[in-house]
Amino acid sequence: MSDVTRESMEYDVVIVGAGPAGLSAAIRLKQLDADLNVVVLEKGSEVGAHILSGAVLDPCGLDALIPDWKEKGAPLNVPVKDDNFYMLGEAGGVRIPNFPMPPLMNNHGNYIVSMGNVCRWMAEQAEELGVEIFPGMACSELVYGENGEVKGVVAGVFGLEADGSIGPNTEPGMELHGKYVFLSEGVRGSLAKEVIAKYDLSKGKEPQKFGLGMKEIWEIDPDKHREGSVTHTMGWPLGSNAGGGSFIYHLENNQVYVGFVVHLNYENPHLFPYMDFQRFKHHPMVAELLKGGKRVAYGARAISEGGYQSMPKMVAPGVALLGCSVGMVNVPRIKGNHNAMLSGKAAAEAAFDAIKADRSGDELTAYETEVREGAIGKDLKKVRNVKPMWSKWGMLPSLALGGLDMWTNSLFGVSLFGTMGHGKTDAAATGEASKHKPIDYPKPDGKLSFDRLTNVSFSMTNHEESQPCHLQLKDPSVPISVNLPKYAEPAQRYCPAGVYEVVEKDGQQEFVVNFQNCVHCKTCDIKDPSQNINWVTPQGGDGPNYPNM
Ligand SMILES: Cc1cc2nc3c(=O)[nH]c(=O)nc-3n(C[C@H](O)[C@H](O)[C@H](O)COP(=O)(O)OP(=O)(O)OC[C@H]3O[C@@H](n4cnc5c(N)ncnc54)[C@H](O)[C@@H]3O)c2cc1C
Repeated sequence: MSDVTRESMEYDVVIVGAGPAGLSAAIRLKQLDADLNVVVLEKGSEVGAHILSGAVLDPCGLDALIPDWKEKGAPLNVPVKDDNFYMLGEAGGVRIPNFPMPPLMNNHGNYIVSMGNVCRWMAEQAEELGVEIFPGMACSELVYGENGEVKGVVAGVFGLEADGSIGPNTEPGMELHGKYVFLSEGVRGSLAKEVIAKYDLSKGKEPQKFGLGMKEIWEIDPDKHREGSVTHTMGWPLGSNAGGGSFIYHLENNQVYVGFVVHLNYENPHLFPYMDFQRFKHHPMVAELLKGGKRVAYGARAISEGGYQSMPKMVAPGVALLGCSVGMVNVPRIKGNHNAMLSGKAAAEAAFDAIKADRSGDELTAYETEVREGAIGKDLKKVRNVKPMWSKWGMLPSLALGGLDMWTNSLFGVSLFGTMGHGKTDAAATGEASKHKPIDYPKPDGKLSFDRLTNVSFSMTNHEESQPCHLQLKDPSVPISVNLPKYAEPAQRYCPAGVYEVVEKDGQQEFVVNFQNCVHCKTCDIKDPSQNINWVTPQGGDGPNYPNM
């Protein structure tokens, strides 16, 4: 498509992604100067359609951005009332009391929300201020200026032929140019990945780390529903196979968010994160809660876990990376939305100052300084060793030492461990199949647990089948010639949407990519041990259609 001529539109700031980071940036820009031209492009069919979070929201980001959010009707309706933490074994669990937990782990003052609905509300606030928001517009390419700076994006390409060529129904899209381009694509953004590689932004930083988060919404028996209750668990069924844990949040209307996160640095390629999630719901404590209820939605999304030491440089000429495109999740708190919002606000303030000074297309270094030295950096620095400790020493030692480290960091601003490294990428952490035992997972019962494809239908995902496959294999022979013999082709198991299959055809094994099922979690792009899968955007509007995730 590089030889195509397109119409272009000029803006002050072009924002890719209508998540909490992108929308906060848009709102702040217009608060600072109502005359700025700001556009937000979102690949989901509507704002919120691709948003998947826990979500217990720390309102500090919203407080800073829209202090009167309550009066303005923000959908933060369920304050957290009680906070429980359990260590699970197969048949029972031990409740860890709250008092040894560092204060930062306390959820008092936070809200159980649907981040999809929060983003829908934020989009309304942005539009009232005059921001242009275009959902259903995937940004598929970056546009570079004469001096190598990012000057815009290509959005709205539709109707390409399956082989990527231009056909009778092709719409070539538009170029949207900005004095600055903000990439707020969330975890493992496809354009952010290009920018990080092109400008070598990860140089000198630890590799980014990730988890795979899967989530279901359940409607449960009103007698068992406790609005405002938050429960986290660790332990069973993952045991020593992988790090991770669960969350159970009681929101409004007898609904419960049931979620499970598996750290993607697991070694055993036979691990099947989706099946661990399904198995988790059969734990007596969880089964009792869900029995008689019904699952009404399902989705999955990667979560960034590298924290402070993995944040790449976040500015390059003309472009800034925001929110989880950088990786701003506080891992022990499982919270990143507040930092995403604060990063959007900080990027907007830096761009406003730059534009006022007649600058454009350069590096917004003031933004990077604010992130590293301001509230976001402080939030992430205190917990920077929790993830590497878990990777290195396992769950129980890291619980004790991580707790101690968070206490000393919170009280005295120092760590006894300095800043620990993460070592390998999650892809490189994958071990060979022959060195690990296959895992026997029970079959889903169709009541508490479900097979993948049935659950995927509850994500309402949809992709126009005639378009090019957006899960690009750099070398199509690798899955069968390398990944299958060496790693038992783990894509068959790590994908929570059943996109990848190895099938037998005419006596030959073949790798099949059912891209129509994709829920845009990006796990394949992260975990493929050969780093052979490149996730690029499908045409706009495709993908999941989450209700109130
Ligand atoms: C299972 C799970 C549980 C979590 N629980 C919590 C929690 O309880 N509390 C909390 O605070 N945080 C939680 N987080 C983390 C939180 O979700 C992230 O920190 C937050 O979503 C980051 O916001 P963002 O705006 O950077 O990205 P996102 O929220 O991911 O938004 C990015 C947006 O950009 C769009 N987009 C991406 N690429 C393109 C493109 N090329 N063109 C157009 N649009 C594009 C996407 O469709 C999406 O709408 C959780 C995450 C997961 C996965």
